[in-house]
Amino acid sequence: VVKSRGRNSYEFFDPTMEAKTLERILMENELRKAIAQGHFEIYYQPKKDLSTGKLTGMEALVRWIHPELGIIPPNRFIPIAEETGMIIELGEWILRHACQQNKRWQDEGFPPLKVSVNLSARQLHQKNLVEVIQTVLKETGLDAQWLELEITESVLVKLEEAIEILQAIRDSGVQISIDDFGTGYNSFSYIKHLPIDTIKIDASFIQDIHQNQESQAIVKAIVTIAESLNLNVIAEGVELLDQVAALSENGCDQGQGYLFSKPLPTGDFEQYLLSAHKNS
Ligand code: C2E
Ligand code: MG
Ligand code: MG
Ligand code: MG
Repeated sequence: VVKSRGRNSYEFFDPTMEAKTLERILMENELRKAIAQGHFEIYYQPKKDLSTGKLTGMEALVRWIHPELGIIPPNRFIPIAEETGMIIELGEWILRHACQQNKRWQDEGFPPLKVSVNLSARQLHQKNLVEVIQTVLKETGLDAQWLELEITESVLVKLEEAIEILQAIRDSGVQISIDDFGTGYNSFSYIKHLPIDTIKIDASFIQDIHQNQESQAIVKAIVTIAESLNLNVIAEGVELLDQVAALSENGCDQGQGYLFSKPLPTGDFEQYLLSAHKNS
């Protein structure tokens, strides 16, 4: 190890630093600024009951609105926010805005819907998470029953700890959904231990479900497990009517995807709500 003579010279020899390109460093700085200035927008995507076509909820999906670069998708900055810890502040901003908007829609007289907010691993293991959630609900006035948190399987590495946290969240009346289910290689072994409400079947199984026996079998198995554990099940990435038919055949009665709508900015989603209301 090269002996450090100061912070900067040490960093110069730090092997983890070598991997950090200039672009990455610029991104981090830009992201820090964006968080300080609130340069984000939340898009909403509807969730539907596949048999009745009724709206069952909506997922909040964040976008970074960069003054020069335009809209930056979450896959490009959420991992950076996670690694740097900035996700704690950003995540709270997202949670607060999604709850605030949902409460606003309810106050405007739209039929109440559940909003689902994605939670990253780092957030789940943040010390005061439950407190943060409760504070946000109190300050926005949203009842806990209208909030759901989506958590991917990868956050369940520290299983014992995760179970305790999920239980505490559910004790406060907020629902939990396991996102991208089926992609982790232990999915089926731990699912019974989890205090959760919903399984969200990963889009990769939906993509070819209408033409692939294996995907059908997997979806059917997930639905069977969900039923026996008394959990809701929803398919993500639904793009085709053929997929809806295959999902229904295999007992999956909820879906989300471009077939119904892409994620929409607040104003457009409100128009969507208005027309969904009129047509039902
Ligand atoms: P996810 O939670 O699994 O969200 C589903 C992603 O699939 C979204 O991408 C959505 O726009 C996209 N999608 C929905 N329907 C379809 C479809 O029919 N076809 C296809 N090809 N794609 C569809 P998006 O918004 O780019 O988000 C990507 C991921 O970024 C999310 O995956 C989630 O893991 C993460 N993410 C998004 N917003 C947040 C957030 O507020 N907080 C955190 N921690 N992560 C977020
Ligand atoms: Mg999600
Ligand atoms: Mg997902
Ligand atoms: Mg996904």
